[in-house]
Amino acid sequence: MKSTMQATELTITSLMTRGAKLFAASEVITWQGERARHGTYAEVYTRAGRLANVLRRMGVEPGDRVATLAWNNQEHLEAYLAIPCMGAVLHTLNLRLTPQQLAHIVNDAGDKVIIVDGSLVPLLAAIRAHLPTVMHVIVVGEGDTSALGDHEKYDEAVAAAPEEYDWPELDEWSAAAMCYTTGTTGDPKGVVYSHRSIWLHCFGVWGAFHLDESERLLMIVPMFHVNAWGIPYAAWMLGCTLLLPDRFLQPEPLCAFIQAEHPTFTGGVPSIFTGMLQHAVATKADLSSIKRAICGGSAVPRTLIEAFRDQLGIELIQAWGMTETSPLGCIAFPPAGISPDEEMAWRSKTGRAVPGVELRVVAEDGAALPWDGQSVGELEARGPWITGSYYGVEAPERFHDGWLRTGDVGVIDSRGYLQITDRSKDVIKSGGEWISSVELENVLAAHPAVAEAAVVGVADAKWEERPLAAVVLKPGAEAGPDELRTFLHGKVARWWLPERWTFVEELPKTSVGKQDKKLIRQMYNDGKFEVQEVGKAAR
Ligand code: ADP
Repeated sequence: MKSTMQATELTITSLMTRGAKLFAASEVITWQGERARHGTYAEVYTRAGRLANVLRRMGVEPGDRVATLAWNNQEHLEAYLAIPCMGAVLHTLNLRLTPQQLAHIVNDAGDKVIIVDGSLVPLLAAIRAHLPTVMHVIVVGEGDTSALGDHEKYDEAVAAAPEEYDWPELDEWSAAAMCYTTGTTGDPKGVVYSHRSIWLHCFGVWGAFHLDESERLLMIVPMFHVNAWGIPYAAWMLGCTLLLPDRFLQPEPLCAFIQAEHPTFTGGVPSIFTGMLQHAVATKADLSSIKRAICGGSAVPRTLIEAFRDQLGIELIQAWGMTETSPLGCIAFPPAGISPDEEMAWRSKTGRAVPGVELRVVAEDGAALPWDGQSVGELEARGPWITGSYYGVEAPERFHDGWLRTGDVGVIDSRGYLQITDRSKDVIKSGGEWISSVELENVLAAHPAVAEAAVVGVADAKWEERPLAAVVLKPGAEAGPDELRTFLHGKVARWWLPERWTFVEELPKTSVGKQDKKLIRQMYNDGKFEVQEVGKAAR
């Protein structure tokens, strides 16, 4: 029997028109270093209509890719609305990639127009000659455009275009946006989101992050990466005040923005929050307007969650996801009925799947493993906002019976809480057994002298692989390998204790601010580290 329900399409256009009608006066505030620029939803909506007219004049047709190379600001939000709602595909470019990687991605996607921030023109100018599909370039704001060739200025083009745009009826399954994986564990691959997947994900974000209209939402997570975790669409749908930090993502200007505009909510990766915490503590900056902050993108150390609670009065909530999962996959709220003493143990797990997402861990032979908190396997995910393929490439090895193989390794317990212990490319297999680099890093991060630690597997004649700990100490702090090994003692299995240690000024990071373990291994193999060896592998 069929239902009696209406068959309306789930499109970004419906979210856009809702936000524009219901929340015309809601604010979009972009930080400009020392001052904020104030816009409203009404203005963003009008300018999105004008931008769609500009793109149509440039020949953009349904399905064409329009790229953005931009920071988190009002113009980027206008592009987030105009491009998908006119039926084209928003392709956000990661501005921290190398020129070669960028050129590869633009050509792979076949972008027709690029909207570039004035401050990023040199990056685009360097590869412009190698982008044959790009017909038009639009420059936002100021910048030296002499090396760029033909282009239009965003503000002038938008001001000259008509305001009215006849937004088309769209098929909910059509492509709305695309983003490339950052390639930490392989070549970058394109993931294409549909209107439907973004719409459903938006509802997932609304529920999982507990958002509503009263929220002043600071968007630290870059709009060039996985649709800024879907936050711009969810915020727009609900009428939240959007606080956009533009390119001012260092701890000092971020803290200044927070103190000027009093956000209540934010989201970002652990490395940004670690920097913010250190700066706020050192300068006694008051960040307490923020009540909740979502943190993900790599494992969130328990010590960071505790420090946010105790020193800043902020509830730091761990979430897990990836480009392929839109990205919201799971979130770590403690289960009901847990005593305050036990809470932190649950908050520092990776979390439980959000409604709509199914997770499982599987053994090497592909069999699903029990949820016993012990059986380690590869994490697989399924759901309406999880990708079922990649753009333009066959990658059968990344899928398994309709599930996405995430490349993450972990365990699920009887209550459905996931604990990621590693990425399959990063696991340390020592004498046939797995050592969790994530757990070693978390315990090391709890040592008072340690600012940051990365643990990677390196070749070992006897055990095939052993862990190498690369440690950044806090300014002025001292600790050697013996002390850190003693500190680990009793907190992890004895045979996990690393024998190889290196102390460095900083750890290499990927384009989205995660530890670049591939490079750390490479640097070790190339003899770039001064390595101290202590102790023996216990068995
Ligand atoms: P890339 O895969 O290129 O780094 P993504 O941003 O898609 O780019 O990264 C997704 C990966 O980040 C996940 O597969 C996982 O390894 C890691 N990750 C994300 N959130 C967490 C978390 N809370 N704990 C541990 N790892 C995480």
